[in-house]
Amino acid sequence: MRVSGSGLASFAEALTGKALKPRHAHYVELHDASDQAIDQGLALFFPGPHSFTGEDVLELHGHGGPVVMQMLLRRCVELGARLAEPGEFTRRAFLNDKLDLAQAESVADLIDAGSEAAARSAVRSLSGAFSREIHTLVEGLINLRMLVEATLDFPEEDIDFLEAANARGKLADLQAQLGRVMQTARQGSLLREGMHVVLIGQPNVGKSSLLNALAGDDIAIVTDIAGTTRDTVRELIHIDGVPMHVIDTAGLRETTDQVERIGIERTWAAAEKADMALLLIDSREGITAHDQAILARLPERQPLLYVFNKIDLTGEPAGRSDEHGHPTIYLSAASGLGLAELRAELLKTVGWGGSDAGIYLARERHLTAIRTAADHMATAAQIWQQVELFAEELRIAQEALGSITGEFSADDLLGEIFSRFCIGK
Ligand code: GDP
Repeated sequence: MRVSGSGLASFAEALTGKALKPRHAHYVELHDASDQAIDQGLALFFPGPHSFTGEDVLELHGHGGPVVMQMLLRRCVELGARLAEPGEFTRRAFLNDKLDLAQAESVADLIDAGSEAAARSAVRSLSGAFSREIHTLVEGLINLRMLVEATLDFPEEDIDFLEAANARGKLADLQAQLGRVMQTARQGSLLREGMHVVLIGQPNVGKSSLLNALAGDDIAIVTDIAGTTRDTVRELIHIDGVPMHVIDTAGLRETTDQVERIGIERTWAAAEKADMALLLIDSREGITAHDQAILARLPERQPLLYVFNKIDLTGEPAGRSDEHGHPTIYLSAASGLGLAELRAELLKTVGWGGSDAGIYLARERHLTAIRTAADHMATAAQIWQQVELFAEELRIAQEALGSITGEFSADDLLGEIFSRFCIGK
């Protein structure tokens, strides 16, 4: 159990009957109001500001049964505490400058990590790797803005001055640097959000077999994602640590049932937004009219991959070809032949770089901010001779980047971010 706030020394003493030495593990008895023991365990006291939240923090390690926890919780409330809101500890850490916003988000991402690669990348973000890159860019923009703003006072000389100070060259360097950060963040976002794949295929072509074969030893072996009501057609597996959300079109059939129709509409909406479509075909039968009908409804620019399964029955060789006008993989879900080629093709299509080394976990929110900054820097590069507009574009770019680390963030954004944490974090 963790308690955070001000003046916790006396709180701790009332609970444990001892004056706790900062940052020492004390073996204590935890007492109720009538001084009866509730539990025995360890107490650790971290006086602020040297704690996770920056406030006084008291950690209690007890035996953890639900009734004992309730009794302990009740005692803490009697002593003046209240239950924490989801993510409140991390939120306080953010508000007290112990973490910036990108780091705070990575706490939740670390806890939710679905693969080792995602966990490693989340820790990298938590330790500030992503934030440092953003800070460097923001500093570069501030320096450039100082230069530009200084010239605004001398309108006759401004353009010559900016030329002489190589303002355009400096902006180009920052744009290149932002491009590299975007590249890494996109990989990080892929690790967090995963790729979305629509799986098309007749019953018995081997869809479940293929998913299971792709999942391999993955601990997340073919599960329904909780919370997607009636969406039993979504599965999550991991390929080399990259999450892959599979939307199974087997559920996409004509129906008169109202509720089912809503579910099917939702599935269609998700399918149309997917990163790619994968058509699974029984090598002995080829593409059916039903497959064609589904393919016809998907957006034209959606990458399409053909997979001919059950080659163990036809004797065709495993591997990749382009003969159908789309990348085509021949494989056998049953024997595993050709699976490596499929994995490689899937990862290539979504642009996975092959390794999580040096990648920090990033969210869609971060990518949007980086894109906004990049757009405004691009405009700035074009209109640099109109110094006032130039200055304004740079200001907006800086603000967009600042929103990643939380320098400029609206309260509602903070509420949105922290409400998705679990309680106690
Ligand atoms: P789904 O209905 O598309 O999900 O298909 P399943 O995965 O349930 O597979 C249907 C049948 O085909 C099962 O009996 C599988 O064992 C079989 N099957 C799947 N893949 C292969 C394969 O590569 N080779 C062979 N010989 N049988 C396969």
